[in-house]
Amino acid sequence: MISKIVGGITPSATCELEGLIGSMKKEGIDVVALNIGEPDYKTPENICQACKDAIDARKTTYVATAGVPELRQAICRKLQRDNGLTYAPEQICVSTGAKQALFNAVMAVTNPGDEVIIPTPGWVSYVEMVKLVGGIPVCVPCKDDFQLDVAAIRAAVTDKTAAIIINSPNNPTGAIYTLESLQAMADLAVEKDIYIIADEIYEKLAYGGCKHYSVAALSPEAYEHTIVINGMSKAYRMTGWRCGYTAAPRHLAGGINSLQGHMTSNSTTFVQWAAIEALDNGEPEVQQMVEEFVRRRDYAYDRVSKMAHVSCTKPDGAFYLMPDVSWYFGKKAGDRVIKDSFDMSEYLLQQYHVAVVPGGAFMSPGTLRIAYTNSMEEIKRGLDRIEEALAALKD
Ligand code: PMP
Ligand code: GLU
Repeated sequence: MISKIVGGITPSATCELEGLIGSMKKEGIDVVALNIGEPDYKTPENICQACKDAIDARKTTYVATAGVPELRQAICRKLQRDNGLTYAPEQICVSTGAKQALFNAVMAVTNPGDEVIIPTPGWVSYVEMVKLVGGIPVCVPCKDDFQLDVAAIRAAVTDKTAAIIINSPNNPTGAIYTLESLQAMADLAVEKDIYIIADEIYEKLAYGGCKHYSVAALSPEAYEHTIVINGMSKAYRMTGWRCGYTAAPRHLAGGINSLQGHMTSNSTTFVQWAAIEALDNGEPEVQQMVEEFVRRRDYAYDRVSKMAHVSCTKPDGAFYLMPDVSWYFGKKAGDRVIKDSFDMSEYLLQQYHVAVVPGGAFMSPGTLRIAYTNSMEEIKRGLDRIEEALAALKD
């Protein structure tokens, strides 16, 4: 029999959908993919070259669990340069993607039965990670504009609370949390002696003058109560390379290292050398990509917010839009009743061949997540299909 813990988790909706679309495309179906959270741009040449050089130099052996010293030093330089954060290499643990870094962080601070607060809408894996370590996820809805509801989060803290997961810029909403709300989270964590797990994987994708702030940088006490999560996937287009990291206060860093030592050991050695190149020399390409995402965001937001009976908050970062389509729930396509966001995304995929993720997977039942991680032409085709599909729904 499968264990209660593993039997009790929900599969990742984003990963499952990606598999399904892959098979539809193989069958020759013209699917417009507005589902996956990964840049459509390929990994820059200099990063690939650094990896090839590392393989040629046979940097292919086991290394220290937490990563080669050169990469941990490069991460420390990055955190200082971009976030004003001072870490020593022994506070960094390089992992198999930010996903593993997050799992390490959740496991490092959560005892069985502890509560972890997750503002919602929130990324699909947070709730399941908390459940996997025997913790209890406590979901706290954001305000209508997708900003943190500071008062509600404060009210949700109990003597069992271990941590709050903060993800800004946010997947799935694209919100960037205000400095005031992040300061309130930092103060709350210090006052209640709980941790902030700060998932900053989208930090470079901030648009129109909106600024990303690192919670750990807000005060020396906040630093001691925060585990920073970041990685190479989104900024440097290295999703498949699987390279992320934690930067943790000294009293947690050793434990995270030991945990990983029993799970996976070091993340792929030659990828770590490519990551050094990304962090040290990757910025110009990031900036070009950001300019394109701003164009796409503006176009997609404009189109979606003009669709009949659809409302949408303008996102400031990441590469997602989260329109509310709940007006259409209860309507029919032929005999098929669209009851919720899961039905809606299935209907869009099966009948109109456009892929988006149901908001329900992110604990946002009235919405869909649209990723503008595809070319302008594809975004246009996809939005045309969504518009047509919605217009075809009848009472
Ligand atoms: N956090 C969030 C909010 C994400 O969207 C993702 C994307 N998979 C991750 C973490 C994990 O990123 P990685 O590819 O580095 O594992
Ligand atoms: N984070 C991305 C997404 O939300 C990639 C898939 C995943 O890891 O969940 O689409």
